Amino acid sequence: MTPTAGESGAKRADLLQRLAIQTSERAASGRLRRARTIGHAQGPWLEAGERRLLAFCSNDYLGLAQHPQLIAAFKRVADDEGVGSTAAHLVCGHRREHAELEEALADWTGRERALLFSTGYMANLGVMQALLGRDDLCVQDKLNHACLLDGARLAGATLRRYPHGDAAAAARQLAGEPRAAALLATDGVFSMDGDRAPLRELAALCGRQGATLMIDDAHGLGVLGADGAGSVSEAGLDAREVPLLMATLGKALGVHGAFVAGSAALIEGLTQFARTYVYTTAMPPALAAAALAAVRLARAEGWRREKLAALTARFRSGAAQLGLPLARSDTPIQPLLLGEAADALAAARALEARGLLVAAIRPPTVPAGQARLRITLSAAHEDEHVDRLLEALAALPRPPG
Ligand SMILES: *Cc1c(COP(=O)(O)O)cnc(C)c1O
Repeated sequence: MTPTAGESGAKRADLLQRLAIQTSERAASGRLRRARTIGHAQGPWLEAGERRLLAFCSNDYLGLAQHPQLIAAFKRVADDEGVGSTAAHLVCGHRREHAELEEALADWTGRERALLFSTGYMANLGVMQALLGRDDLCVQDKLNHACLLDGARLAGATLRRYPHGDAAAAARQLAGEPRAAALLATDGVFSMDGDRAPLRELAALCGRQGATLMIDDAHGLGVLGADGAGSVSEAGLDAREVPLLMATLGKALGVHGAFVAGSAALIEGLTQFARTYVYTTAMPPALAAAALAAVRLARAEGWRREKLAALTARFRSGAAQLGLPLARSDTPIQPLLLGEAADALAAARALEARGLLVAAIRPPTVPAGQARLRITLSAAHEDEHVDRLLEALAALPRPPG
């Protein structure tokens, strides 16, 4: 860094230069990240450059992203209404398609109302910033999604992170600050591990401690529970026990965006105070129409969940036979823990050489020493795809030990 003399004579670091140095340090440690350009997608098949790859890394769990009914709904509204919503919801961007989708999401999740956000990231930032202030406590699982952590930090609340899945530790953290208003927030299904939060224990704990429970069900909605209503519904928890339910529309529903569901009073409050709702352009109405078509399919077509569960079971039993380092997950997120970043990267490259695309997830996304292949299954896969993946995994060089 070459500091330059400012008017006062003080030396000022150059921000762009500092960023460039951080980037080159990351490159030197083999952790540089790059977006790969996909030229064409067809179900689980992706074309990248000249190559056609069978992908096990999308979150399109139900295989809805290319469903003709979603595409038809999108086209119909785009034909009639155009593309952009042209304004924020509270100005004139809130269209009939948004209203219908909010009603359908509230009905599906068994909540009074739902409120759309443009992304899950924004939903979590908006909720936390609306609810929490400097004197408040936010207790979170260590493995929560980055945007839940960022939300608590942005709100300025005291953030305490308990060891993964440890409700007793969460109880101690809440009990340690008995006077602070408190939010306990957790992923319902953990995005990089595929396991579930102990929802019933956490709900009981929040009841005893007078804390508010928020579940981010980005990976549970559509996949778990009766008619796919998610992990909260599967755990049999109602709106009193889980007053704040957030989920996204870009994963199992195959579209884009997110929502918060809860009481009418909660939604009214978020409408007033969630800045990421108020001060941003509403999602395109055609997307809302596609998401509504996806909700209907996800509820009605239970065979998608059954197929997904069967593919997951097939993968797990095959991987167990191979002695692969399976995680304790019964969801379509099936990580294989390999340890060092270089091992995960080498495994992903070896799979790619055999025509398979699997994401190597490395620190800082996961803790140091816990680099992994994050394998995700989809109802768009067939048995033979899973078998092909297992064959390629069997051919990987084994890590020592
Ligand atoms: C993907 C994800 C989000 C963010 O949702 P986007 O709509 O992609 O911004 C939030 N929480 C969890 C647990 C997620 O996996």
